[in-house]
Amino acid sequence: MSKKRSKNAGYSGVLASRAVREFLMEAAGERALQVVSEMTEPMSDDDLASVCKTKVSEVRSVLNKLHNYGLADYIRTRDKDSGWYSYTWYTRLDKVKEAVTNKWQEEVNSIEKRLCEESTELFECKRCKKKPKMAFELASEVMFRCNACNAKLKLVNNQKTVKELTEKRDRLARNPPLPEE
Ligand SMILES: [Zn+2]
Repeated sequence: MSKKRSKNAGYSGVLASRAVREFLMEAAGERALQVVSEMTEPMSDDDLASVCKTKVSEVRSVLNKLHNYGLADYIRTRDKDSGWYSYTWYTRLDKVKEAVTNKWQEEVNSIEKRLCEESTELFECKRCKKKPKMAFELASEVMFRCNACNAKLKLVNNQKTVKELTEKRDRLARNPPLPEE
């Protein structure tokens, strides 16, 4: 395998998107881009490791993580003589944009969920600052008294948190990944 090839391989097509590259690194680690770039054709983890000049265990770890996201798959073949199985891996980068979009949607949803929680009345003991803060129902059950120090529970001022979360949600919602599509 020539040096030239490994340098030029990949970073075309879907990998040209920064959102895709960031997603792959987050999902499958530092080596993910290199591994994906080198998988221009189906290959074994051993071959992949030697092309990437790294340990086969590291390549396997990347492949397994990609597999969890449905972004890599393998064909299993059995050697008739030895009876051993071998695995030939290939990428499913056709699915990566969907995975990136799903992750973004999950982030938006999780902020929405927190906003929902923060938008209700929460109570806390100013003295103990115990977590988690209590919802109205729970606080009323304990007669708005801290069960640790008996101080009166105070309504949490979460305007700042709500404002920050709203801004974060809006910013994220305005910027879906892969705007080129
Ligand atoms: Zn307390």
